[in-house]
Amino acid sequence: KDEYIRKPDWLKIKINTNKSYTGLKKLMREKKLNTVCEEARCPNIHECWSERKTATFMILGDTCTRGCRFCAVKTGLPNELDLGEPERVAESVEIMGLKHVVVTAVARDDLNDGGAAVFGETVKAIRRRVPSCTVEILPSDMKGDYDSLNTLMGGEPDIFNHNIETVRRLTKKVRARAMYDRSLELLRRVKEIRPDTPTKSSLMVGLGETKEEIEQAMDDLLAHNVDIMTIGQYLQPTKKHLNVERYYHPDEFEELKKIAMEKGFRHCEAGPMVRSSYHADEQVNETSAQ
Ligand code: SF4
Ligand code: SF4
Repeated sequence: KDEYIRKPDWLKIKINTNKSYTGLKKLMREKKLNTVCEEARCPNIHECWSERKTATFMILGDTCTRGCRFCAVKTGLPNELDLGEPERVAESVEIMGLKHVVVTAVARDDLNDGGAAVFGETVKAIRRRVPSCTVEILPSDMKGDYDSLNTLMGGEPDIFNHNIETVRRLTKKVRARAMYDRSLELLRRVKEIRPDTPTKSSLMVGLGETKEEIEQAMDDLLAHNVDIMTIGQYLQPTKKHLNVERYYHPDEFEELKKIAMEKGFRHCEAGPMVRSSYHADEQVNETSAQ
């Protein structure tokens, strides 16, 4: 189905580019750091950086060894590992005055540990420098390697986030070299390693999934002890990426959130602009208060 589907009004927002975060963008260039907020041209950047004091850093370079059909990150052979990156991320977290930080990374399938050591170091560096900042990690599936997972958990993140991204049937089409069950198993293992760490996963809708399949994905996540779920609209980053099959109405997101909460998630964010890291600061408080 190639026909052009018109973007509905609720997605036509004007990105606020006032001065409050242009200085922060400069800081990112100076420190040679990448954020998902900028790379993905996230519409929430003003709210997150300036008001909520949260940001999502993408470490281990800007080039991914995978090429998921929904993702705008550059694909290819990555550069050498940057061992100074953990400290520079921590410095920036301090300068930005962040209260909650999400650390994600490109998939480094070229490295034996998938980059777990540098990832874990980054979490520890943030903890040392800004103890009050809560840290959420959003790693790849680390090729299902549980030694790497243990290394990641060594930094004792406040939230472990790993996205299934889409329903089981569409996984092969949407995600490169990822497996639905491997992602679920990774989430389950985190609870084995540190039962108190809240786990979280995201689903994009609009890729051709059915409502039954979404509900099945919710059930699968709950069966693997996942606490938090986020659901957002898939938006096509460029014409080369997968088409949007459908735009969900804000009321439909409300309905999905209601279903997720009734099924037993401790927290669910659902909405057209909801991203994996959206309102993540609230989720730490809510899940740790229970
Ligand atoms: Fe960054 Fe996530 Fe906020 Fe978007 S929702 S600006 S990616 S922290
Ligand atoms: Fe993008 Fe992550 Fe897929 Fe790499 S593994 S292409 S960064 S979604």
